[in-house]
Amino acid sequence: MVYYSFSSAALSMRPSEIRSLFSVVNRPEVISLAGGMPNLKHMPFEKIAQTVSEDIRTHGEKMWQYSNAQGDAHLRKQILEITALEEVYADVDNIIACTGSQQALDFVTRVFINPGDVILSEAPNYVGALGAFLAYNAEIRNSPMDEHGLIPEELEHTINLVHSEGKTIKFLYTIPNFHNPAGVTLALERRPQILEICKRNNILILEDNPYGLLGFESQTLPAIYSFDYNADLGYAPSVIYLGSFSKIIAPGLRVGWIIAPDLIRDRLVLSAESALLCPSQFAQMTISSYLEHFDWKAQINTYREMYKCNFQVMQKALAEFLPDLEYNQPHGGFYIWLELPEGVDAKKLLPIAVEKGVAFVPGTGFFSTGEGSNYVRLSFCYPPEDEIREGIKRLADALVAYK
Ligand code: PMP
Repeated sequence: MVYYSFSSAALSMRPSEIRSLFSVVNRPEVISLAGGMPNLKHMPFEKIAQTVSEDIRTHGEKMWQYSNAQGDAHLRKQILEITALEEVYADVDNIIACTGSQQALDFVTRVFINPGDVILSEAPNYVGALGAFLAYNAEIRNSPMDEHGLIPEELEHTINLVHSEGKTIKFLYTIPNFHNPAGVTLALERRPQILEICKRNNILILEDNPYGLLGFESQTLPAIYSFDYNADLGYAPSVIYLGSFSKIIAPGLRVGWIIAPDLIRDRLVLSAESALLCPSQFAQMTISSYLEHFDWKAQINTYREMYKCNFQVMQKALAEFLPDLEYNQPHGGFYIWLELPEGVDAKKLLPIAVEKGVAFVPGTGFFSTGEGSNYVRLSFCYPPEDEIREGIKRLADALVAYK
């Protein structure tokens, strides 16, 4: 038997609290308000099946073949139709298709981070981003948010503090719309301010926007990227923008995209070549065909309505069963970030809640520092309406049983 000598990167990886909940959540008697799975109940699968089988008949050879590392050129053009809804424009050459925006997070971190480099981010933070950042031994420094997202003055303060310690900040990671898990949206007037502060301090912005089109009232704020876009260049020189088909079409096909300046794009394409040769041509062409043959804008509207309804059910149930608890009012997305009564530890509450038949994600999973024990993330995206209400009732029962 040999001694396994793992790399420091492997030893820095940590399991996601959400993934380790999967076995609990899959028990049929437990209502899961834990996972952030998109709800696909309104997808026209019968018609999609016909279209995809026709695609395989006509383009099978191409769909099953290797392709190029930057991704399918036709799909990249179509991506621009989607991003235009958020005032994100680019040259098609500055788009890279990748295997979900999760892979984009990995590639961007790989391209920029030396161990010990600082990444600024919101707190709480998306678990998958924390995982990618920690795997490359980045130091994550949080910049405070309020109900309108990142606070510009605090960002400036955090930057000064990190610089005074002689550390290098490589980028600011931010989820400006319907934040996972905090539920908040960065106010319109703060977007150019955040950009200006970062530019002045020579800090790139990594803008992660998988939920932007899922606003309850169809409001789509211009991306931070849009304030930095330079039409002559065909990209925003200070922003890397990440998008994804996961929340609006098909998480299982694993297709996302990156929009990046030329020099960064070149490095990211090299990363893609070394990591996977090329993203799945089958998945990309399936998405491309869906965009071509189906009314995807109407489908997104259907989802927006559905998620809004689910949110309202959860909001009503919280008002009924847990009226004293506070949370930021989300205007879209999948999540409520709920503050527990003082002294309640979410991790200790979880087994009691599971016993009562409901699961959530304890807040600590969304910090790199062990904070967040007094918070839980509740997802309203997936369960049917009656289960959302029942789940909140069970959560209230669990809080009564908590000692
Ligand atoms: N960013 C955020 C904020 C997310 O919530 C998620 C998925 N939960 C991702 C990125 C990754 O999504 P995907 O890889 O499916 O595109």
